[in-house]
Amino acid sequence: MPHPNDPSLRSFVPVDPSSDFPIQNLPYGVFSARGLAPRVGVAIGDFVLDLWELEQDGRFGFREIGVFSQPSLNSFMALGPKVWSSTRARISELLRADHPELRDNEELRQQALVPMRDVRLHLPITVAGYTDFYSSKEHATNVGVMFRGRDNALQPNWLHMPIGYNGRASTVVVSGTKVRRPRGQLKPPNVELPSFGPCKRLDFELEMGVVVGQGSAMGEMLTEAQAEAMIFGFVLLNDWSARDIQQWEYVPLGPFQAKAFATSISPWVVTRQALEPFRVSGPAQDPVPLPYLRQTRPNNYDMALEVGLRAGAMNIPRTICATNFKYMYWSSVQQLMHHASSGCAMNVGDLLGSGTISGPEKSQRGSLLEISWNGTEPVELAPGVSRTFLEDGDSLVMRGGCQGDGYRVGFGEVEGTILPAE
Ligand code: MN
Repeated sequence: MPHPNDPSLRSFVPVDPSSDFPIQNLPYGVFSARGLAPRVGVAIGDFVLDLWELEQDGRFGFREIGVFSQPSLNSFMALGPKVWSSTRARISELLRADHPELRDNEELRQQALVPMRDVRLHLPITVAGYTDFYSSKEHATNVGVMFRGRDNALQPNWLHMPIGYNGRASTVVVSGTKVRRPRGQLKPPNVELPSFGPCKRLDFELEMGVVVGQGSAMGEMLTEAQAEAMIFGFVLLNDWSARDIQQWEYVPLGPFQAKAFATSISPWVVTRQALEPFRVSGPAQDPVPLPYLRQTRPNNYDMALEVGLRAGAMNIPRTICATNFKYMYWSSVQQLMHHASSGCAMNVGDLLGSGTISGPEKSQRGSLLEISWNGTEPVELAPGVSRTFLEDGDSLVMRGGCQGDGYRVGFGEVEGTILPAE
């Protein structure tokens, strides 16, 4: 059987070369259509393959479990990496142009292939815990220069471990969910006492989210191989941030309400296996990390990422950032090894935000804080329309993907529109 990443594979489902969802991708999501309950599906071209229909028809080896009838991927993820791998190979086989099983079964095909335009996409996982890291050296340096000056930009701990904080799983939402402007305590530097009101400096953060598909026991440390094997896949992630709330509250324990009101993720989870051909080395790490954080393999990915911003009156978004996931200083595998290193248990469904992904160039900055340099350099979106931070009605869209030879392994998009504060 050909490997599911084989670039020469073609599906009997027509897929445009510019599509994010060729047969080499097969990302998982949760969808509903035809008035039926949400279930697990896979994106292929402009269709969603209904895995519950196929499971009920006995096309997978685990009919009795009903993992694909669930409104989240957690039950499937809990089955582990061997099942992820064999299932992906089986789905690839079922969709192949040279495999007649589904191709020539018109009744099953009609049941199992649903046009993407007819489905509603849901949050793909039940988020067990959400942790956000701060692993782009360029982002941490930009923020440090703005707030502490060039000489103290990176904190002394930054080059020694992936810095992170425990965020809120309760407000992780799927793309398309409207985001209400948060309220909080505000105390601009020039006033004496704080007031409570709507955030005035609302921002996005371009990130990737790691979906953890296997747990680890409390007290257990993880090797590089163990950490990698626990990663089920990746999503696009927008870590919405209230900069004014953050600036007043973050001392001394870090972000709290400034990041807790919403985090948006893409509906499709691209598997680690589909990204395998795009593995690259990250930046050289100097100083060499402590032994428990050392990695022997290239654990970064060559993945182009783009952010578009559409102000109320504009028809299409204007690109305000184009960068790459490969710039991240600390890899997802290192983040996971560090996370478990104290004895912290990891759970199926944990979500790890990479941290804002900025690159070395000005056009590669992954937040408005950096793009507008803390509000001092407005970005022009259209004639007469400029922004320093997000305004009500603005729509923010992130896209991303890896370019293969004649195909593209993409994530679709994560979109969010700002509603006025209540
Ligand atoms: Mn963040």
